[in-house]
Amino acid sequence: MIRLENVTFGYDEGQTVLKDYSLKINQGEFVTILGHNGSGKSTLSKLLVGLIEAQAGKIVVDGQPLNEETVFEIRQKIGIVFQNPDNQFVGSTVRDDIAFGLENKCVSYEEMNRLVEEYATKVGMKQFLDREPHHLSGGEKQRVAIAGVLALGAKIIILDEATAMLDPQGRENMMELVHELAQDEDKTIIMITHHLDEAVKSDRIVVMNAGQIILEGTPKEVFAEKELLESVKLDVPFAVKASYDLKQKGILSEICTSDEELMGELCK
Ligand code: ADP
Repeated sequence: MIRLENVTFGYDEGQTVLKDYSLKINQGEFVTILGHNGSGKSTLSKLLVGLIEAQAGKIVVDGQPLNEETVFEIRQKIGIVFQNPDNQFVGSTVRDDIAFGLENKCVSYEEMNRLVEEYATKVGMKQFLDREPHHLSGGEKQRVAIAGVLALGAKIIILDEATAMLDPQGRENMMELVHELAQDEDKTIIMITHHLDEAVKSDRIVVMNAGQIILEGTPKEVFAEKELLESVKLDVPFAVKASYDLKQKGILSEICTSDEELMGELCK
């Protein structure tokens, strides 16, 4: 679905943020890009939607090489939800906001209403359709942003630190929605975050540091590398820390990625 081949990019001359970067993401995959601040995660997402252009290498999305001619078409396939929910509203009501992109697509009024209601329901925001977006909580705003992206039919959804400004409950609710979306085989989800606990349910985790991939694998494989993760300032979840110690003492045979799994293993 997405292929980056030997991509090199720097914002300023002489600076290299991503160097010889290669990554493949399959259709329907839920991939978490994990890395401390400054590791190049947002740069990667901007490259994927053609907001910035690689100085070397190749990016292919859904079989199309990304270039000046294809960028508009590729952008139709990718929806991004950013960190600050306040910066992504254009409509005066939730309904208008979700409908905004559709209005530009010449969809009939009836079809537009149907899509708005369908996706507002999907993200649990149907009862908020006539509210002003600015009066919603951070988590509710992010849900509306996701509905907008889904309504436009994006096949690839990038969540770029989309939970960063949410309170713990908002984050938890948002992650539930992301896991629900990830069940859909047609949707490819790329979640960019520095919270390891958000990566637990992804199919694959790609860990970045200083513009490079330093580790890649299933959550279990990646979390087993506790020392490497901590060396790049990533704080591993409690269950991982505890099970790592218990594994070293011979009490557990493998790393647990969540509190529930750890409790289950300990009660066996
Ligand atoms: P992350 O998303 O992992 O926090 P970024 O991709 O935002 O990392 O940043 C990677 C590097 O690129 C950092 O060193 C950052 O300072 C630099 N950078 C990001 N945006 C710009 C920009 N617009 N101009 C110059 N340097 C930038």
